[in-house]
Amino acid sequence: MSKYETIIGLEIHVQLSTKSKAFASDDVKFGGAPNTQTGVISLAHPGTLPKLNKKQLEYAIRLGLAIDSKINPKNYFDRKNYNYPDLPKGYQITQDKEPICIGGEIPIYVKGEWKKIRIHHIHIEEDAGKSIHDQNPNFSLVDLNRAGTPLLEIVTEPDLRSADEVEALMGGMRQLARYLDISDGNMQEGSLRCDVNISIRPFGQEEFGNRCEVKNLNSMKFARKAIQYEVNRQIKLTESGGEVQQQTLNFDPATGKTSTLRTKENANDYRYFPDPDLPPVVVNKEILEKQKAKLPVLPWEAFEVFSKKYQLSDDKAIQLISEKSTAEFSLNLMEKGNSNKAISNLIIQKLKPWSQENSCSISELPISENQLLDFIELIDNQLVSNSIAYERLFPLLLENPKTPVKELAERNDLIQSSDTGELEKLIDEIIAQNQGKVKAYQNGKKGLLGFFMGQLMRASKGQADPKVANKLMIEKLG
Ligand code: ADP
Ligand code: MG
Repeated sequence: MSKYETIIGLEIHVQLSTKSKAFASDDVKFGGAPNTQTGVISLAHPGTLPKLNKKQLEYAIRLGLAIDSKINPKNYFDRKNYNYPDLPKGYQITQDKEPICIGGEIPIYVKGEWKKIRIHHIHIEEDAGKSIHDQNPNFSLVDLNRAGTPLLEIVTEPDLRSADEVEALMGGMRQLARYLDISDGNMQEGSLRCDVNISIRPFGQEEFGNRCEVKNLNSMKFARKAIQYEVNRQIKLTESGGEVQQQTLNFDPATGKTSTLRTKENANDYRYFPDPDLPPVVVNKEILEKQKAKLPVLPWEAFEVFSKKYQLSDDKAIQLISEKSTAEFSLNLMEKGNSNKAISNLIIQKLKPWSQENSCSISELPISENQLLDFIELIDNQLVSNSIAYERLFPLLLENPKTPVKELAERNDLIQSSDTGELEKLIDEIIAQNQGKVKAYQNGKKGLLGFFMGQLMRASKGQADPKVANKLMIEKLG
């Protein structure tokens, strides 16, 4: 084991799923032809003025409320100045001293336990455009569709201790953004990305070491590789008597290595100052109440109900909270039904796969709540065996969602017989036809019970109640 502890803090960028940009009316859609979603404000034509997208403010507040942040009542916007071809204005609009959300915490689930990651703050900002260096040998190209896209930046405290925790937080962030309907949280399309700040310290030491920041990681695979590489580099450097310098790094996926972008000495001076084009925005009670009302059940809250109130295993609870629609559907069904285990099994083994196969939400299932509860009751009352219910009755129900479940089961001969009279007749026949094996069983080859049960199940076309049948068979074999 290493004698060094890894310390990580993230700066997470979430692209919001608004229709238009942060301070302009241009469309924000993924994959549009280059420079087709960029109007005069995004292009920084003289005389144009930015105006805050109300949705961006609302989404920021919704996220803040979900994680117990303090919402800043008065919001200021600042200019972060730098010169780059994909930034026509020469500055990015962001929030420096007075961010929209302060504090809060996000619970993450890692290796069977919940851990709270403290949030330093969340601020509102806009994205830059994209420079494209690999399409022309002589020129760099620029696509300004992304310029002005609304972002939230979530800055954590240095509370993370491993790549596993980083992965859990990024996964949790995606899940939360989708629960709150503020972003699709899609890492492949760049809607969710992070800068990873990494340092090491000997276990037991309180003081933090110097940190290095790896910029713009847009996949968990790269984030993991970057963390691993950086931790090894810092340990080696420290062990050989060197000192880690605070710096900003780039990660190259091709080599799996980090390289210096800038050090503290040549750090960017962004010359932040309040943007005179944007008046402060006051968050009043009305806006707060509106967003509070939009808060759904949160992933960790639903987990708590599934595991404490409904006594489900952590593993099942985690599966049920994967998506908001599944969590809400499950909570609702469990509230009304009385067999939580049977309900969770049905949802995990049948309904979730159905929604995945049909690429739709579980709430679009054509079967009504009452029908599902009746279906579960049939299993619970042992009128239909679990396997017959899942393999035969469920597909029938999907095709005939309006036919009462019990009628459907009866019509298709799926009700299992616990009628002992009929079973006894079948058992007697089997015993008569297999005298040799019966003798062997009676002389101690008890393993033959499986053979007899197999015969019986076949003879009853799978409809015999296994418990009753087993008991009867043992009695008859003597
Ligand atoms: P700055 O304002 O210079 O960018 P911050 O204090 O805002 O610095 O930190 C930025 C990020 O770096 C935060 O996510 C924070 O958790 C993380 N961080 C700060 N100190 C450390 C450290 N010693 N090791 C790892 N991460 C750190
Ligand atoms: Mg920072």
